[in-house]
Amino acid sequence: MRFCATMRRPASSNRVLICPVKLRRVASGLIIVEKYSGVVPCSIDDLLDLPGVGKETAKCIMGEIYNIPTIVIDTRMVRIMKLLGLTRSNDPKKIASDIMGAFEKKVWLKLSHLINDHGRAICAERAPDCKACVINKLCPSSYV
Ligand code: SF4
Repeated sequence: MRFCATMRRPASSNRVLICPVKLRRVASGLIIVEKYSGVVPCSIDDLLDLPGVGKETAKCIMGEIYNIPTIVIDTRMVRIMKLLGLTRSNDPKKIASDIMGAFEKKVWLKLSHLINDHGRAICAERAPDCKACVINKLCPSSYV
């Protein structure tokens, strides 16, 4: 089977090309329907057994669906928390602990999403737009 960016059937072929990400989503959906009667499992271990679900995704699902307070530590979160001076560590557990100590539990997941969006829109890895950043006065790494 060949993989491509989207699911489609080329005009010159009878074969359907399936995106691996979509394939994993479909597989996960089928497992949830068949094994869990359509209910997303409320366990990190069960979620990790689903195709395409990693630890941070599992934590995000637990937070979004089951309101379990959680911090999602992805590369963007690590980078921006360091820029903001909220952690110095490279160890995800220590970084999570530093963030959990600095923010209330109720905002952890929302903070994860906000930092992720901020990293995409303003604080890009190669060219952070500190002039446009709403927290540039608080950020020790700001060039403004
Ligand atoms: S001030 Fe600059 S470095 Fe700091 S968070 Fe904003 S964009 Fe990133």
